[in-house]
Amino acid sequence: APTASLTFPEGHSLKNIDLSVGVFINNEWSAGEGGKTIEVRAPAYDKVIANVAEATENDVDRAVDAAEKAFETVWGEHTPGSERGRLLMKLADLFEEHAETLASIEALDNGKAFGIAKNFDVMAAAGCLRFYGGLAGKNDGKTIEVNESKFAFTRHEPIGVVGQIIPWNFPILMFAWKLGPALAAGCTIVMKVSEITPLSAFYACQLIAKVFPPGVVNVLTGYGNVVGAAISSHMRIMKVAFTGSTLVGRQIMKAAANSNLKPVTLELGGKSPNIVFEDADLDQAASWGAFGLFFNAGQCCCAGSRIFIQESIYDKFLEKLTNKIKSIKVGGPFEADAFQGPLTSKLQYDRVSAHIQAGKDEGATVHLGGGRHGTEGYFIEPTIFTDVEPSMKIAKEEIFGPVIVVQKFKDEKDLIAKANDTMYGLASAIFSRDISRAISVAKEIKAGTVWVNCYNTLENGVPFGGFKMSGIGRELSSEAILNYTAVKAVHINLNGPNP
Ligand code: NAD
Repeated sequence: APTASLTFPEGHSLKNIDLSVGVFINNEWSAGEGGKTIEVRAPAYDKVIANVAEATENDVDRAVDAAEKAFETVWGEHTPGSERGRLLMKLADLFEEHAETLASIEALDNGKAFGIAKNFDVMAAAGCLRFYGGLAGKNDGKTIEVNESKFAFTRHEPIGVVGQIIPWNFPILMFAWKLGPALAAGCTIVMKVSEITPLSAFYACQLIAKVFPPGVVNVLTGYGNVVGAAISSHMRIMKVAFTGSTLVGRQIMKAAANSNLKPVTLELGGKSPNIVFEDADLDQAASWGAFGLFFNAGQCCCAGSRIFIQESIYDKFLEKLTNKIKSIKVGGPFEADAFQGPLTSKLQYDRVSAHIQAGKDEGATVHLGGGRHGTEGYFIEPTIFTDVEPSMKIAKEEIFGPVIVVQKFKDEKDLIAKANDTMYGLASAIFSRDISRAISVAKEIKAGTVWVNCYNTLENGVPFGGFKMSGIGRELSSEAILNYTAVKAVHINLNGPNP
């Protein structure tokens, strides 16, 4: 099976690390049926850092065989929930013990700052695994008294082998978000990690092999139209969970419908409104506003990409926001204090650049940035557009980069119409000191998350997911476990008459 040897820049706490980058099935590595590889690049340096196995449809079949066997023999209802929970917590501990390594790999592969990768991505991934460790085995059914001669009970049974397909913006965190609820529920997994950022998950597989029985977690990468399509159309995969673009989400749903009608959960794009009322604490709103979009270089599905400012404070707030955004340090993953890294792929860099060009062409004003940062890697300057009309491409389409679009509103009525004028409905935020106003506007916003006086704060115990074309189903919290279980009703006749 192929391996990779990663070297970190001088001055970093780790010098280099070797890891397996093949197809991970039954806790073993192989080269993959086709024997082909995919180049993985470090976006900050535009350099190839690994050649990973490109899996094929046959590899997916082998992974399903392994997952099915594990489900029927060692996992699912063969391992009590408490034991599944103990293993998830053990994996959480290993993530923390290996945080330095996992974060170094993540930083190199995805481009995000090492400090953020370590203290946020890896720690949040461990926290998520531990949270679901605690929930395993607690998904009880009900006893239902029907009448004197009959009662029924329900069992929440694991659905079986599940397919999971994840993107490149939060590779290790999305890995944990998907693993946690599925394993807690008792399912076994065939996961496709992004071909752009597969390395941290591959390292995590080494830890998984120390904890879980063979076949419980199987991980591979490859192209979406081959491996992703094989998973979503597989007749023996009983459910598929996807995070990524709305375009691909639609294809996954079609593939599920055309094969075995497997249930689908989708966590897709967004164009989330971040709303600043005149009575807000403007420093607080500027701080969260900058964080809400520029965190992860804007590559967050829930990014607050449309800022709506009440007319009366427009100039004053725009100045505060601009100063905050100007203070963002753009830099490579191993530079001290860098907050905004590169776009994670050349393709994404090109897409974001095209959106910036479209904004200019359609007559919006570039208030800040608008160009490339530096000469090496896929960096784009923190960018603010003003004079934006709702009909413009930059106001409607998800940019998924460090570009914020500023618009004005008059009053609540005007605001609600503008904020909801989108096909998306993932997230939103309201900044106001008037809690009654915040709560009443929160009710009107068509989005799965409304933050009040903060942004991007995700909690394991709080459900996350989209309204409208931002997705189906919820991740995190006890809600996510329901995605991986099927409810069985058992009817018991005590002494009822025969028909
Ligand atoms: P994508 O949706 O193409 O890729 C996400 C995952 O889906 C990858 O693992 C990919 O290999 C796989 N995939 C691609 N085609 C598939 C298919 N036909 N069947 C099954 N799986 C398939 O995302 P992208 O092209 O990398 O990014 C495009 C846009 O998606 C971005 O600009 C952004 O707007 C959005 N995006 C959203 C998220 C999110 O967190 N919701 C994450 C990444 C990208």
